[in-house]
Amino acid sequence: MKEASRAVHAGRELVARSPLAPDLSPAAVHVYTDLDDYDAVARGDRPGHYYGRNSNSNRAMLEEAVAELEGAEAGLATSSGMAALHVAILALAPKPVTIVATRELYGGTLALIRQDLEPIGYESVFIDMTDLGAVRRSLDGAGLVLVETITNPLCRMPDVEVIATLARERGIPLLVDNTFATPILFRPLEVGATAVMHSATKYIGGHSDLIAGIVVGSRDLISAARARSVRTGSNLSPFDAWLALRGLRTLDVRMRRHSDNGIALARALRAMPGVGYVHHPLLEGSPSYETAKRLLAEGAGGMLAFDLDGGREAVQRMLSRFQMVRFAASLGGLETTVSYPEITSHRALTPEERRELGVRPGTVRISVGIEAAEDILADFAQALSA
Ligand SMILES: *Cc1c(COP(=O)(O)O)cnc(C)c1O
Repeated sequence: MKEASRAVHAGRELVARSPLAPDLSPAAVHVYTDLDDYDAVARGDRPGHYYGRNSNSNRAMLEEAVAELEGAEAGLATSSGMAALHVAILALAPKPVTIVATRELYGGTLALIRQDLEPIGYESVFIDMTDLGAVRRSLDGAGLVLVETITNPLCRMPDVEVIATLARERGIPLLVDNTFATPILFRPLEVGATAVMHSATKYIGGHSDLIAGIVVGSRDLISAARARSVRTGSNLSPFDAWLALRGLRTLDVRMRRHSDNGIALARALRAMPGVGYVHHPLLEGSPSYETAKRLLAEGAGGMLAFDLDGGREAVQRMLSRFQMVRFAASLGGLETTVSYPEITSHRALTPEERRELGVRPGTVRISVGIEAAEDILADFAQALSA
């Protein structure tokens, strides 16, 4: 099956009289009549569920579906993207190691490494992952490589294929945060990554109405991650799993529209008043254009950014004039939203650190929705004409 069909059908086995849409099963516990049967299920030798922190049918459907879309053996759904990152990192590197990670890491991930992992002995090196020389130089002695498919907010695309080869040659596991691209546009395991995680809060859920995470990889890796998630209780709730699967079933059509709208807006913004640099992986002239062209053949999704002349005041003026576009600090929803990295994703950094990353006082990040492109372009054009 092609991705579009798999997104609709993955994770579900329908037999005669099955409900076409999945039932919601909020049960915390299942009853048993036979001790041997319970024993076999608890051991994992027989399929079934017994306690909701260990497994649940809605979660299992979501896990199977995302694993299938990413081309993985198994998946684990968690209570948030951060929980997925946490269990994934600890499953890949149970003892303190040096983590080599993308410099423009998602703020929450950076905080997890600095505030939770470093105090217990992990070390970290943050590099520009689009600079393969820097990647090569930093891999000696590393125990884990952590890459985001498309960087935030400047939307660069590291060459995950080459990074995977470099890491594998040295026996270092590679974890990819594929939240921005989704398995519809890019599947890191196909180019040699060890594991992939998502904030399913974003495109997989797709409707800004749930918080969830998922990690996929080999059966052994996921079983180690699952054991830890069971012990620490970072399981995803049945209803949020049900919603996330519902979102996943339209992921293919949504990502195509997000991608079309994203590149259309990027091109249009270039000609709008007050707009400086426009950041989009597939925009001609983008620093990682060649890599994105090769790895994101079907589109780059809905994330882009631009630098507005006039800094914070100009950004506020634009926000006040929007008719349809909203300010919101998340991404991946149906609605076009903008965020302002200086006070949202990158607020924990000093102004110098932001400048080093290329985040300016006028940098605006956009999560393009699935509205009609004409309406999105028109709202930016009228808001920027001020
Ligand atoms: C949002 C996000 C996360 C964290 O996910 P939550 O669901 O908010 O816990 C991690 N990585 C990226 C790239 C994100 O955008």
